[in-house]
Amino acid sequence: MEQSYIQITIDGREIMAKEGQSIVEAARDHGVVIPTLCDFKSLPPAGTCRVCMVQIGGRIVPGCTTPVSFGMVILNDTDDLRNLRKGLIEMLFVEGNHMCPTCEKSGNCELQNLAYQYGMLVPRFPFLFPHRKIESHLPHLLIEHNRCIQCLRCVRGVKAKDGHEIFGFIQRGINIRVTIDSTDPDALTEETAQKAMDICPVGALIKKKTGFKLPIGKRRYDVNGNG
Ligand code: SF4
Repeated sequence: MEQSYIQITIDGREIMAKEGQSIVEAARDHGVVIPTLCDFKSLPPAGTCRVCMVQIGGRIVPGCTTPVSFGMVILNDTDDLRNLRKGLIEMLFVEGNHMCPTCEKSGNCELQNLAYQYGMLVPRFPFLFPHRKIESHLPHLLIEHNRCIQCLRCVRGVKAKDGHEIFGFIQRGINIRVTIDSTDPDALTEETAQKAMDICPVGALIKKKTGFKLPIGKRRYDVNGNG
C-alpha cells in the first residue's frame, strides 16, 4: 500500500509526516530532537517516562504515544516544556539512588545525558533515598533496583528464543520492581543479558564481567553529547 503523508508543524517548521507515525517518530525523521527515555528503536511505545511531552493547543501530551494528524501544530522547544521535562528528570533522580560515579553505565546512560542536557544541578524535590536491593544471584546479570526508572524497555525488548518475555514487574506503587521470569531462569543467557544491558537506558541491568569495558571519557555521551 502506498504511504500517505500529512503536513504538521513543529516549532513553526512545516514537515511532512507519515500517516500513523507518532509525533516523536515524525520529528526524528526530520532531525527534530524530542527527548525520550522509555522509547527505543522499533519497540511499541509505552509512554511511561513522559519526558517527550509536547504541547498541542493548550494541551500537554506525550509525543511517543500521540499519533500525528493533519495540520497538527506542535510546540516542542519552549521554556515551559524544558522546565517540565527537567522536573521529570529531577523526579527520576530523587525517586531512586542513581550514584553516577559508581555506575558502570555512566557516560552511556540516557538519564544522565538528559540531566546534563537540561542543566540539572540540585533537584527541586527532596531525595527519597529508598531502600532497594541489588540482585546478584543470576549467573550473567546484576539487577540494580536503585537505578530502575520503570521504563519497560527490558520487558518489551528482551525476549527468549520462543518469543516469551523474560522480564516483568512485580508489586505496585513505590514497591514496584523489575524481575525475571522465575519459571525459566535459563532464558537469561549471556547473550540476552548483554541485550538487556544495552536496552536499559540507565544502569539497572548490568551484564556481569563487563566492568570498565570502555574507559570513562570514551563512552557514548562522553564523545557525543546527543548520543
Ligand atoms: S531495568 Fe532498565 S530497562 Fe528495565 S524497566 Fe528498569 S530502567 Fe527500564
